[in-house]
Amino acid sequence: MPDQANELRYVSTRGTAPALGFEDVMLTGLARDGGLYVPEVWPQFTTLDIEAFAGLPYAEVAARVMEPFVGSDIPQNEFAELVSAAYATFSHNAVTPLIELGPDQWLLELFHGPTLAFKDIAMQLLARLMDRTLQRRNARATIVGATSGDTGGAAIEAFAGREAIEIFILHPHGRVSDVQRRQMTTSSAENVHNIAIEGTFDDCQALLKALFNDLERRDRLSLAGVNSINWARIMAQSVYYFVSAVALGAPNRAVNFCVPTGNFGDVFAGYAASRMGLPINRLVIATNVNDILVRVLKSGSYQPNEVIATSSPSMDIQVSSNFERLIFEAAGRDGTRVCQLMDSLGQQGGFTLSEEELSSLRGLFSAMAVDEAEVETTIRDLARETGYVCDPHTAVGIAAARRTQSEGVPMVTLSTAHPAKFPDAVEAATGKRPDVPPRLEQRFGAEERFTVLENNYDLLTEFIESRVRAVSETTS
Ligand SMILES: *Cc1c(COP(=O)(O)O)cnc(C)c1O
Repeated sequence: MPDQANELRYVSTRGTAPALGFEDVMLTGLARDGGLYVPEVWPQFTTLDIEAFAGLPYAEVAARVMEPFVGSDIPQNEFAELVSAAYATFSHNAVTPLIELGPDQWLLELFHGPTLAFKDIAMQLLARLMDRTLQRRNARATIVGATSGDTGGAAIEAFAGREAIEIFILHPHGRVSDVQRRQMTTSSAENVHNIAIEGTFDDCQALLKALFNDLERRDRLSLAGVNSINWARIMAQSVYYFVSAVALGAPNRAVNFCVPTGNFGDVFAGYAASRMGLPINRLVIATNVNDILVRVLKSGSYQPNEVIATSSPSMDIQVSSNFERLIFEAAGRDGTRVCQLMDSLGQQGGFTLSEEELSSLRGLFSAMAVDEAEVETTIRDLARETGYVCDPHTAVGIAAARRTQSEGVPMVTLSTAHPAKFPDAVEAATGKRPDVPPRLEQRFGAEERFTVLENNYDLLTEFIESRVRAVSETTS
């Protein structure tokens, strides 16, 4: 019998939504009070637990790291099988191989999944977990997601053809790369619906928030979110911090990570790993010129600007949703304080952290912005010096890592996309188009399907409601 009293629950960053178990949090996405779910307590891994990860296959470490978050909602052996199936779709044996770039400089390649983006790591698992839960509950769900590039492709790849799920993906019209768009729009699965919104990624994200705050509709359509606010994605991403740090000597040696950042999901997963006991020395937030996170760490003032289109579109974001989770921690887990700050963001267009909150963030995080010229020279110089070709998102990370004093602590930069997904930027920097892996080439000739919609909430809901095949009677 599972011990219900010791079962991990999740609470909302805004303090008023009901605490939920893992499966409900996974299906819910955004909490009903507008907040994000976080574990009520952080599971702890001892030095011995972490030492024991050394030499184990990725999927096995993954199962061990995630088990405390899942609890008795899914039996251990069944969970381990789902994890193993998710990572069997990766084309590299190590799943996330580490590449040595220079003394104490490492690159963690997260792009060996089906769509060659790091989003596959979370999405391949999430799709399997959701499918299992819905089937067992005899329920259906409508997934609606917004993407600035890679999330959509990874979600469509993972959820296409699943009977219990209808999936709608919003992307900013004309603001994702050609390859990213094709990866989404060439799916022939009937349950896949692509919507190109005439606006920015932040507009797409605002529509999505409005939809999830429309509680009557949300219940009627059994809306489920797969964006990086979904706790299950953060959980899945915390795994590679453990795997790579252990490969470099943790827990007996601390490691730095540098994370190309947009919506703050990936770097928050690093924070989660640190709270679980992994000795992380510094977490470097690397942004492109959309530098709101750099500015907030400098001044305490969180002030979104206009989004600027760059060569790293998956990071062209001014409102980083998952940052709310970190604010919750920095504010001593005070939901009332988070509400106050988020109200100020909505009404005055920004907020200011207290000195205490700010210094708690600075204890672990640094932040650096990298402009377009530096992205280009980073891709070019790295290719010249080492022969290694990286994509523009990864280049933002490498440039920031090079500017960070490491002093004998290994620095691991996360490589979030395969260079072939951004051939124009890579060619501009190196003079040579990157080779296209067969996985990417397969769908290039296929017909594209998507609908362009104005940035308008009513048009969006009309579109979704007319295409949902059947509405679930119950989800819980
Ligand atoms: C999503 C994405 C990022 C940013 O990750 P966040 O979790 O949103 O911070 C960086 N690079 C690539 C290629 C991505 O797809």
